[in-house]
Amino acid sequence: MEEILAVDWRALGDRSLCDSCLGRLFGKLGHGFTNAERGRRVREMATIADGPCWVCGGLTSRYDDLARLVARKLEPWEFETFRIGSKIDFEMAAREESLWAGLALTGPEPLKAEVNREVGKRVSDLVGKEAALESPDIVAVLDTGFDHVDLQVNPLYLRGRYRKLSRGVPQTRWPCRRCRGKGCARCGGTGKMYPTSVEEVIAAEVMRESGGTGHALHGMGREDVDARMLGRGRPFILEIKEPGKRRIDLDASVRRINESGIVEVDRLAPSTGADVVALKEDRAAKTYRVLLRMASPVDEAKLKGTLPVLVGEPIAQRTPGRVVHRRADTTRARRLLSAEVVGVEGDRAELRVTAEAGTYIKEWVHGDGGRTRPSLAERLGAACEVLELDVLDVHDGG
Ligand SMILES: [Zn+2]
Ligand SMILES: [Zn+2]
Repeated sequence: MEEILAVDWRALGDRSLCDSCLGRLFGKLGHGFTNAERGRRVREMATIADGPCWVCGGLTSRYDDLARLVARKLEPWEFETFRIGSKIDFEMAAREESLWAGLALTGPEPLKAEVNREVGKRVSDLVGKEAALESPDIVAVLDTGFDHVDLQVNPLYLRGRYRKLSRGVPQTRWPCRRCRGKGCARCGGTGKMYPTSVEEVIAAEVMRESGGTGHALHGMGREDVDARMLGRGRPFILEIKEPGKRRIDLDASVRRINESGIVEVDRLAPSTGADVVALKEDRAAKTYRVLLRMASPVDEAKLKGTLPVLVGEPIAQRTPGRVVHRRADTTRARRLLSAEVVGVEGDRAELRVTAEAGTYIKEWVHGDGGRTRPSLAERLGAACEVLELDVLDVHDGG
């Protein structure tokens, strides 16, 4: 209480303050009090005019009303956690700060922080949900000057692993190249290059249940459109924007996704936006099944002798010719971790190859006109064509 006794109140003059604004001047001193309680104690020690508050103009007495306003706005939405944000009139904040300077205070709390906390407590009681500072489901931004509430409804994140059973399905919606999504003769009015995508199959069920306004699929890397994704599947996080409902029957959604015959998921489990960042940073090695064809019958002994030499040898890959029109032409260094022959029949060979994240496998096989070196074709001295490519495993440690 020494800090309170040491204040020279002459800078306040005859301006009056409410209990909350008075207590908040010492808001960082002593715990277990509300600012209003603290203000009443200060008033016992100093002579401070009572009357319309010079700082807040009565805002601190309206927390119950403001909380009811927020609660009404939240009513249509399903959520577990929320946070209150607020906009405080600029002049109100300026008056408060001039007082801090005039009274040479060391531990005042800003009005905005009090509004967020006090309204938050009341909303929590009204709606029976918890206030949370970290990644809440909904942020209610209260404009105290206009008694207006804006809601920021945070996405619903669900994680799982997907298997893609069909070729010719991109991971995410691929807009038509000609019309860029508007719909034209080329795409039959769909606006898309392919009828569906892994994202659309998975999201459709969850969108219907959650009533979201949009979706995104974040994958731990992506396979080519014509490659299947098999084995344990590829880790992904589905993001549903502005979901009205968050508690949905995930098992039922999984069952219906798996009836598509195109995509299967192992499960859908709650996730967070922070998990998306981690997923995108992952540098997981992948194992592939490669079916290739050569110009003449495969020399199995030569193939089996060549693969071990190529494993571990640095591969310099320039951006493949098939994607260089949309990506920077750079050279990346990658390695194979293992490569073995599964079978040979005539001019065909099936390989199982494990490579570092970001290795272009097709290009490693055929050499991409010399853009990838060394390549299997270069070492065998014979042209190789990839007939089928499947991802068999994503080694993410999960
Ligand atoms: Zn006040
Ligand atoms: Zn089109």
